Amino acid sequence: TYYIAPRFLNKLAVHITKNFLDLPGINAPLLLGIHGHKGEGKSFQCELVFQRMKVQAIHLSAGELESPDAGDPSRLVRFRYREAADIITKHGKLAVLMINDIDAGAGRVDSGTQYTVNTQLVNATLMNIADNPTNVQLPGSYDSEPLPRVPIIVTGNDFGTLYAPLVRDGRMDKFYWEPNSEDRLEIVNGIFTPDGLNRPQIEQLVAHFEGQSIDFFSALRASIYDEQILAFIEQTGFDKIGLKVANSAEKHSFVKPNFRLEHLIEKGEEMVKEQQHIQELRLVAAYNR
Ligand code: ADP
Repeated sequence: TYYIAPRFLNKLAVHITKNFLDLPGINAPLLLGIHGHKGEGKSFQCELVFQRMKVQAIHLSAGELESPDAGDPSRLVRFRYREAADIITKHGKLAVLMINDIDAGAGRVDSGTQYTVNTQLVNATLMNIADNPTNVQLPGSYDSEPLPRVPIIVTGNDFGTLYAPLVRDGRMDKFYWEPNSEDRLEIVNGIFTPDGLNRPQIEQLVAHFEGQSIDFFSALRASIYDEQILAFIEQTGFDKIGLKVANSAEKHSFVKPNFRLEHLIEKGEEMVKEQQHIQELRLVAAYNR
C-alpha cells in the first residue's frame, strides 16, 4: 500500500471535481500543472489518485508529441482529448487527459526547428482547448455536439520554459510539489512496507540519505533483488537464462532478500557513488567544451 501525500490527493481531487461541477460564476481552469524536481512522485502519485478516485486517465507523453513520426501533434492532443471525453459521455466515468513531462517537449522552445514547430503547435492547441473545452474538433470533421470538459493534468520540471500565456492563471492552476520531511518519511515507509522495517529504521534510512529524491529509495529497494537474480542466473546458466524467462509460463519465486538496514545503507552508498561518477563525467565534459 503506497502512501499518497494528503496535500497532493486534495489538490488533484479538487481540481478534477471542480471541472465536473457547474459552479455559478466560477471559471475553473481546465489545466492543472504540477511542477517540481524530477523523481519526487508527481506522476506516480497522480496514478495513485486516479486509482483511488476511479478516474480513467488518457495519457500523452512529451516524447510522443515531439516525435517526427507522430504526425501533427496538435491533432494528437485533440484526438486524445476527445477519447477522454468519450469515456465521460459513454461510460459516465471520470476521465482526464494526462501529459507527463510537458516541458521536455513543449518547453524546449529553442532546440531545433522540428521541436520549435511542434512546441508551438502543442502550446497553441492546449491554450485553445483551455479556452474552448467543450468544442474541440479534429481536422477534417465537425461535431456539433458539445463535449464534456476534460480536466488536463500536466507534470513538468520547470514551467518557466513553457509558453507564458498557457501558464496564465485562468488557464492553468499550478501546484509546486516538493515532499516535506514528513511526506518523505511516509512515502518511503510505504515503499518498504512489505519488507518489515520498523519506523525508527525508516527514519534512519531517510536521514542517512538526506537530499535524495523519492525515486532513489524505490530504486534502492529494487536493487536489493539484484543479488538473488544473479544467484538465479548463475544457477540456471548465463546461456540458458533466456529460455527460462522470455515468453515462459514458469513462475519464479525468490526467497525474501536481505532488507536489513545496514544492507540498505551499504547498497544506497553504492548508488550514491554512481551518482558521483555521473557528476564528475559531466564536469569533465563541461570543462572540455
Ligand atoms: P516525477 O514525476 O516527480 O519525476 P515519479 O512520479 O516518476 O516522479 O516518481 C519516481 C519514482 O518514485 C516512481 O517511479 C516510484 O517508484 C517512486 N515513488 C514516487 N512517489 C511514490 C509514492 N507515493 N509511493 C511509492 N513510490 C513512489
